[in-house]
Amino acid sequence: MARTKKIKSAARFGARYGKKIRHLVAEIESSSRAKHVCPQCKARRLKRVAAGIWECRKCGTKVAGGAYAPSTTAGKILMKVERLAKISEAEKVKEELVDLLEKKAEE
Ligand SMILES: [Zn+2]
Repeated sequence: MARTKKIKSAARFGARYGKKIRHLVAEIESSSRAKHVCPQCKARRLKRVAAGIWECRKCGTKVAGGAYAPSTTAGKILMKVERLAKISEAEKVKEELVDLLEKKAEE
C-alpha cells in the first residue's frame, strides 16, 4: 500500500478528507499499532486487541487502557489521585493508632 513520508498510514485516503485529519489518523494509528511496554513483565510486547483493551504477547496479561494508547493523561491523573487518597487514609489510621497508644500510656 502507498506510504508517504508525510502522512504514513493515512496515505490510503489519497487526497481526501484534508491534511489535518489525515495527519491525526496517522498519529493515532502509529500509536495504536505499536508495541508498548507491558505493565506486568516490562517486555515491549503489549498490543492493542480492541478499543481500550491491551494484551501482552509474552505473558498474556490483559489490561484496560486508553482506546489508542495503553495509558492516557486522564488515566494517569486518576491513578495519582487514587494513590494520594490511599496515603492520606493510611496517615489517618496512623494518627488514630498514635492517639490510642497515647491514651493507653496515660492509663
Ligand atoms: Zn507481559
